[in-house]
Amino acid sequence: MRGGRPSVGRCAAGALAFLVGCVVHIGPSPAAQTLPARPLLITVDDLPMAGAAARGDAAVRRATTESLLAVLKKHRITAVAFVIAGNVKTPDDEAILQHWLDDGHEIGSHSNTHPSYTALTSEAYLADVAASRTTLSAWLARRQRTLRFYRFPFLQEGDTPEKVAAMRAALAAGGLRNVPVTLDGTDWSFDRRWAEAVASGSAPAIDEVRQDYLAALRVAVTRTEAMADQLLGRRTPQVLLIHANAVGAANWDAMFTWLAARGHRFAPADEVLADETFGDLPIDPGRWGYGHYHRLARLRRATEVRAEIATVLETQVAAWNRGDMEAFCAVYAADAAFASPTGLIRGRDAVLARYRTKYPDAASRGILSFAIEETQLASGLEITPFEAAAPGDVHGATLLARWTLTYAGKPPATGLTLITVRPRVGAPAGQPRWEIIQDASF
Ligand SMILES: [Zn+2]
Repeated sequence: MRGGRPSVGRCAAGALAFLVGCVVHIGPSPAAQTLPARPLLITVDDLPMAGAAARGDAAVRRATTESLLAVLKKHRITAVAFVIAGNVKTPDDEAILQHWLDDGHEIGSHSNTHPSYTALTSEAYLADVAASRTTLSAWLARRQRTLRFYRFPFLQEGDTPEKVAAMRAALAAGGLRNVPVTLDGTDWSFDRRWAEAVASGSAPAIDEVRQDYLAALRVAVTRTEAMADQLLGRRTPQVLLIHANAVGAANWDAMFTWLAARGHRFAPADEVLADETFGDLPIDPGRWGYGHYHRLARLRRATEVRAEIATVLETQVAAWNRGDMEAFCAVYAADAAFASPTGLIRGRDAVLARYRTKYPDAASRGILSFAIEETQLASGLEITPFEAAAPGDVHGATLLARWTLTYAGKPPATGLTLITVRPRVGAPAGQPRWEIIQDASF
């Protein structure tokens, strides 16, 4: 195939190749479009076996494991494989883990019983994590290996600041590092359909699931990587989450072939996780688990929105202090509600009329200042077409502030205000991007 098809540069072994990096030529004009290969860590969850194959007999699980490992070997991938320690029950299960180790992959902890951190107390969850660490550390120590990595089930890192902090402290004390996920094509959700299609023996049915499985991955990869590259302003490293299951055993080869053709370079954990983006993020509690770059985007957006809303108040302060009541009230929505000790009025025009009456001149206006006490953002969860949780945009905010009017020759007046804002549709350049829809000032 020629023309627009990408071709992958070969990565020679050795320090020089590591420093220079591999390159990928996309399109017919390599000189103009040379991009560095994108480091990609492959992580495999729910060992010893996930999905329908986990319910099969030992021979099924062994054969599925051999298929998974053969594909990894073909693509020269060194993966981190996360084990649900409580699911390692028989010598056959241990043999599966041994096979992963023998092929050069690293074993990490994926808890003891795969609990939801959101559903448990810190004490109960930490006890589950400790049980898995004890079991897996001992098992690895007998093989001169160390347990280094942890993967949160459902990517849930804690729904309160205290729970997030408790797990961070527990992981640090246990010498474990949380391995985030950046790419999630919800591969697990295709396993049941795959098993049913295979059982039916229908080639079209099998092919349909295969196409859906690969399409979900392609959508997750292309969308997330474009978002992440824009967010960081560079070609971002990625961590793919997939599961040890039967649909994977049959389709990983096609998936890895596509990933390589798109310019990914399968990279080991130590290289990928050394990237500064995977340093500790601020504590960001949530009931649901997010991908790393989705979380980063959410944190950045929250910071932006707080700054934009602060600008709304700054704009008002500047307008007030130059005596421009029209501009002071311009940040109110046309249908804004305004509550004060004198009652409730509605509409920007009514708010403006009230201010003009109450503060007719410079002597009555004084000098205004605001001190923001608290900003709460109204942003929630959105569900992707593949039923994965992704952070939603900020759709509104409330702001609690203290206002103060200072006067020459008389005591200041001060009070509290609670303001609700919403995005201002079609805000002109240079104008506030939020408008006040409710204001209760006392
Ligand atoms: Zn899992």
